[in-house]
Amino acid sequence: MNQPHALPELGQWSSLEELYELQDRRLPAALEWARASPFLKPRFEGTSPPRNVAGLAGLPFTTKQDFRESYPFGMLAVDRKELATYHESSGTSGEPTPSYFTDADWHDVTTRFVRSAVDISPADTVMVRTPYAMLTTAHQAHQAARLRGATVVPADNRSLVTPYARVVRTLRDLEVTLAWCLPSEALLWAAAARAAGLEPARDFPALRGFLVAGEPLTEARRARMGELWGGIPVRQDYGSTETGTLAGECSQGQLHLWADRFVAEVYDPATGRSAREGRGRLVITTLYRRAMPLVRYDLEDTVEVSSAECDCGWHLPVVRVLGRSAGGVPVGGVRVTPHQLEQLVFELPVEHGVLFWRARAGEKRLEIEIEAFQGHSAAACAALEVTVGIGLGVPCEVRSVPAGTIVPLETLTRGHGFVKPKSLFAPGEDWDKALIYY
Ligand SMILES: [Zn+2]
Repeated sequence: MNQPHALPELGQWSSLEELYELQDRRLPAALEWARASPFLKPRFEGTSPPRNVAGLAGLPFTTKQDFRESYPFGMLAVDRKELATYHESSGTSGEPTPSYFTDADWHDVTTRFVRSAVDISPADTVMVRTPYAMLTTAHQAHQAARLRGATVVPADNRSLVTPYARVVRTLRDLEVTLAWCLPSEALLWAAAARAAGLEPARDFPALRGFLVAGEPLTEARRARMGELWGGIPVRQDYGSTETGTLAGECSQGQLHLWADRFVAEVYDPATGRSAREGRGRLVITTLYRRAMPLVRYDLEDTVEVSSAECDCGWHLPVVRVLGRSAGGVPVGGVRVTPHQLEQLVFELPVEHGVLFWRARAGEKRLEIEIEAFQGHSAAACAALEVTVGIGLGVPCEVRSVPAGTIVPLETLTRGHGFVKPKSLFAPGEDWDKALIYY
């Protein structure tokens, strides 16, 4: 097993300039490791590798397609015996995107993750509610919580055995203090808690915060989540299965790039230039990754990076993740993004009780459905119709639908049935379910 290498830690540098010097000093060793990757090796042949970060600009990007073409071990830069875990994500194409880590790589990931201002401690019970298979997200939070001595409840959001009703029960009975999940989960749990006769703001006094990732999050939705659960903080983390956490939130509510562990460039496709700050696509080069070193990996996420100093004292660049939400759908010549709509929906007054919404684009107008509390439907619809019309400049029709229309009540209340495959059935049982998990 390879030994954990000495990793930089917060407090080791006292300005961004010092941080960038640290990157320059570290880069040659990192590129030396990268040359052991069969995928990267040819990229260095016949040239002398860059001696500092400025020299990286001469190297080609690593794209998501490169990962797919390197499946499974074309990017492996260590002996197979050194590997600790193998992961995959799959994009819309369905082709696997591999990612792997040594124990030392995991140490790098988890020591980044625990820097978050949520400050996990041994007193915490952490519900890990992101997918375990085959991504890194749940494993990352699980190992980081263990590193801090906390208790982990591995609740997996893609598992048949942990439906929302079970999440709500365990949140309450186990006095879960922190939840690692997608932002959407916090809203679904609130609805599931109410379906179980509980009030999220009152009946979960141990819950002290959410740590969320995996979806773009507007300030309005973040505020609503905290409010729903009794005024607790909602902190963000940003990362990917290929890299683990790339940025975490400080005490001042800013998302900072872990730029002591990798080099971050912002690539502007319009000019073809990369810079340390500004708006563009995030491109990263790992400084400590052994199993799968990455050189100029283009995450295809649009970000805005700033080197403005923050009161937290971390001296790390601040990032705003704009994600791929820039996409959206056209409505009568105007492009409407999910981000814009989310902001407007969650700016509705909390007493309307709107947690769930859906929208679809027609040729000339936008059709929106919301679930509101009884007696609030008309007011909520009227308010949203106005803000969407004015804010986005598109005509829309907002309808209130009965609770259970957008998210079926059964989804929120269902328990878990038997989950081992079986072949012998009692009279009246459905034997078409032989050997099926459900
Ligand atoms: Zn900060």
